[in-house]
Amino acid sequence: MKPRTLIGLLGLAVVVGTAGFMMFDRAPPPAVEKPKGPPHGGLLIELDAAHLEFLLEPDSKVRIYTYDPSGKPLVPSTESLLLTIRGKDIRAVAIPLQKDGDGFVSEEPVQVPEEAKAVLTYRQGSEVEHFRFDLTLTLCPGCQQPEYRCACSE
Ligand SMILES: [Zn+2]
Repeated sequence: MKPRTLIGLLGLAVVVGTAGFMMFDRAPPPAVEKPKGPPHGGLLIELDAAHLEFLLEPDSKVRIYTYDPSGKPLVPSTESLLLTIRGKDIRAVAIPLQKDGDGFVSEEPVQVPEEAKAVLTYRQGSEVEHFRFDLTLTLCPGCQQPEYRCACSE
């Protein structure tokens, strides 16, 4: 082996070792410090194939983070997600979602009607799961969060 190759390998080993150490070093503190909940404070939806965290962002776009069933962030590849929202006396509207990092984001800001009911359809191959929920945006008096992602028991 040429000395230069050896030095290169040693350098690589140092970089890999450092990266591994940094990842270990940045591990989150034990969960005893704060109550366990969805990482982004959204609505956690536990399907069989994946866990989803639904959020309506301040710019009114829908963002959905995807996790594997153990809770690790999942970058969707062959998975697809469909969101439909309907309001009182308003027929269901499909909200186009596109893949974005470890989840999905709506292409446009979403108009949420009053008394909105939402359905998320998760599809991976032939496996399809549906989740229905109330997309209520009025604030919970207990935690001052929108009702759909209220985590308190008010
Ligand atoms: Zn609450």
